[in-house]
Amino acid sequence: MSNQEDLTVEEALAAVLAGVTVLPAETVALSAVLGRVLADPIVAQDSLPPFANSSMDGYALRAADVAGAGPGKPVTLRVVADIAAGKVVTAVIEPGSAARIMTGAPMPQGADAVVPVEDTNEAWRGRERPLPDAIQIRRSVQAGDYVRGVGEDILAGQTIIEAGRVLRPQEIGVLASLGQAQVSVVKRPSVAILATGDELIAVDQPLTPGKIRNSNGYTQAAQVAALGAIPVMLGIAGDTEASVRARLDEGLAAGVDLFVSSAGVSVGAYDVVKAVLEQAGEVGFWRVRMRPGKPLAFGKYGGVPYLGLPGNPVSALVSFERFARAAILKMGGHQAFERPQVPVILQDAIQSDGRESYVRAFVARQDDGRYTATTTGSQGSHIMTSLVKANALVIVPEGVKVVAPGEQLRAWMLDWPETVF
Ligand code: AMP
Ligand code: MG
Repeated sequence: MSNQEDLTVEEALAAVLAGVTVLPAETVALSAVLGRVLADPIVAQDSLPPFANSSMDGYALRAADVAGAGPGKPVTLRVVADIAAGKVVTAVIEPGSAARIMTGAPMPQGADAVVPVEDTNEAWRGRERPLPDAIQIRRSVQAGDYVRGVGEDILAGQTIIEAGRVLRPQEIGVLASLGQAQVSVVKRPSVAILATGDELIAVDQPLTPGKIRNSNGYTQAAQVAALGAIPVMLGIAGDTEASVRARLDEGLAAGVDLFVSSAGVSVGAYDVVKAVLEQAGEVGFWRVRMRPGKPLAFGKYGGVPYLGLPGNPVSALVSFERFARAAILKMGGHQAFERPQVPVILQDAIQSDGRESYVRAFVARQDDGRYTATTTGSQGSHIMTSLVKANALVIVPEGVKVVAPGEQLRAWMLDWPETVF
């Protein structure tokens, strides 16, 4: 890829994704896999349920014995066993007999159905009550009624969860049922965050003439953490190659999987990130036809993928959303890299310069179910407060310079849906 070529967002994204690979798997205790990505498919070792059991507290019996039973004409059966959950009985249910059974207890041999206790003359649940000698059944049932069969949920040998799935509470429950105390998941990417610029001071320092606090480092560390990846803060490098290299070498020593830096990639006299990457080889410098976020560097440092974002805070955040997010999710084994997007009806006019633009806006759902988008103020790439007010970035497609109120565009949802609607 030649230097300084203007790429579309899609082209730049494709190049970034081509430059990163899925990380290897690691084994993690089941209690710690929420949100992790499954590395290998889960093949059931057991069937679930593992044995036929009752779905109700009631009486296990032979359906044929109670075929004629009804509220006015109960059928009386001998009670020959009492089966609590967790107990196994050897009693066989012969014609004319039944066993008291609790929810989840194994069906005894001979029985093919359960009648709930509510449909007997013992409309009572509990252990202390002595086992009756006989029970009156006040309804008929079909064979199989209130019985949960072996393997109704899962059959041994079935693939239950595919590799690449993000583990939610319900997947974790299935893994527990199958006895998977340890799970093979994709390693969490460890992402080095570097801020560059002689004007930057640490967050806990008082402002002095010409200086600003490093905000990008914190924004990006939070963006990394929000993706389930591990931020490694490299702090601030000055505008010298030696300073940048020293910090990056700390990242290499820490074994990071990706570098993300901000600033130093445009055409200023002190844009040293470029120089450092050029010397490291394997580098593409691009101007992306997007707004904000035109300058972008992607290459490798010490063999580790490197994404150099622009310095302006909003440009940095939007470029991260579009490029770093995708790279980190891909490395972490995810299969979808984009935020949810919805069609929105613009409430105010938007001007663009023909680049693909990401406009800070607040999206709201109207009573008719449609979504509206209202821009949140100045769109300068240094204005962070309009980002604070926004819950979405409205995308103005490439080539479009004016969008009028009432027109429909697509919104890239930064928050979805809990904090929005
Ligand atoms: P540059 O890409 O170096 O030209 O920086 C563009 C703008 O972003 C300048 O106004 C910088 O002061 C600002 N900037 C760069 N890095 C940071 C940072 N880490 N935090 C806040 N602002 C920054
Ligand atoms: Mg600078």
